Amino acid sequence: MNNMKIFSLPQPFKERVFNLREKLTGYRREKIIFKKIRGFELNLRNPQSWSEKIVWKKIHDRNPLLPIVSDKYRVRQYLKDILGEKEAEKILIPLLYVTDRPESIPFDNFTEDYIIKANHGSGMNIIVEKNKPADRKQIIAQCKKWLSEPFGLKKHEWAYQKIKRRIVIEKLLRDENGKIPVDYKFKIFHGKCHLIQVVSERFANISVGWYSPKWDYLNIDSEWKLADYMEKPAQLDSMVTLAEFLGTPFDFIRVDIYLVNNRIYFGELTNYPESGRSSFTPVSYDFELGSKWRIIPEYWKQENYRGKDYLRRVGRDVSASQVSIKKDFALEGAGVFAKRDFSVSDCIGFLEGKIRNNPLRESVQFNARLHIEPDLNNLIRYLNHSCDANAYFHGQNLCAWRQITKGEEITIDYNCTEYTVFSPFKCNCGDPDCVGEIKGFRFLTDKQKKKRKGKLAEWYA
Ligand SMILES: [Zn+2]
Repeated sequence: MNNMKIFSLPQPFKERVFNLREKLTGYRREKIIFKKIRGFELNLRNPQSWSEKIVWKKIHDRNPLLPIVSDKYRVRQYLKDILGEKEAEKILIPLLYVTDRPESIPFDNFTEDYIIKANHGSGMNIIVEKNKPADRKQIIAQCKKWLSEPFGLKKHEWAYQKIKRRIVIEKLLRDENGKIPVDYKFKIFHGKCHLIQVVSERFANISVGWYSPKWDYLNIDSEWKLADYMEKPAQLDSMVTLAEFLGTPFDFIRVDIYLVNNRIYFGELTNYPESGRSSFTPVSYDFELGSKWRIIPEYWKQENYRGKDYLRRVGRDVSASQVSIKKDFALEGAGVFAKRDFSVSDCIGFLEGKIRNNPLRESVQFNARLHIEPDLNNLIRYLNHSCDANAYFHGQNLCAWRQITKGEEITIDYNCTEYTVFSPFKCNCGDPDCVGEIKGFRFLTDKQKKKRKGKLAEWYA
């Protein structure tokens, strides 16, 4: 009898054992699979081909930026941080919803076609078309399954293990013919594009064409159907420029971009294309590409590393040890106090929790329609108001507006997030420009709005 399982280990544990064994055997399984697909031995001591270097990267590169850019949710904020809010908004696919509780997905709110993805891996997608009713129960079950599983453990895909798992729902892009748009995948080595892979009919009858950055058609054969020559897109130069800019902080990365009605959209950043297990030929081309990639262990620790400022910033990310929540039940109040100094624009907290259509006393308005009720253990729930607040929201990040010293109470200006405050109250913050009764953004005078420039939630600006 097959179902007589007496003892079974939880999946991640089994995979960790597998990983340990791999490490101890010099990645024996990885080498067997590689040889089978690529047709030559994997040399991890002296990797030379592109595929070998991808495997090397999986196993050895621990650049803290990799999990951030691989996270389909966090990469959105990353783009805003490095391109600027306005530029990033132009190329980001509209985000409809994000959650770690699939049962909270507000299906009735979505009026267009959309795509549901897990943020922590690849190939976890569900497309929902507005004309076909969604099987909600099945979708929720599938999402829960994704959230319960780490991605890429057995393939040694390190970056994915570090991601906080979430479900992300985005608008589904369609091209001028109503089809899923062509996906341009730019292979960037040290900030320079050396190969473009063009994928058509991504979810159905997939076909792939290969081009040089100057749009010469390349005779590369792979596991996918070979696509015919395609006209050079008019925006090719802009796309290459964007891809190279995004690729600059990495020794190698793949940047995916869509073109819809001549408009550029950001797809994703991928550290380990096909996990280094693609079967493309000629093999000589694998080595030619590999020669563009200089392997420098821990390149990201070097003084002149291009992503250094960003790493420094995220490195200062919140943890419970940096703030304390003081509750005073006698006064029915609470407050958040700094346990260390924060510099201007340091990240103090992250707004996440239940998404709601209507505000609550504890919720923070997220956009024109939605409100987020922070979880019970989220400090944002306990922030008090001040008309001269020392913190503000940059997207979902709670940031220091000015220098905050250890011991100081951290405050936000409710008028900067709430259009209408759920329960208005009299303020006694003591600021000379105190608004008095706090009722929400819509009750501010033009002068008061002007004074809050930079602190206002983005959708007011
Ligand atoms: Zn006030």
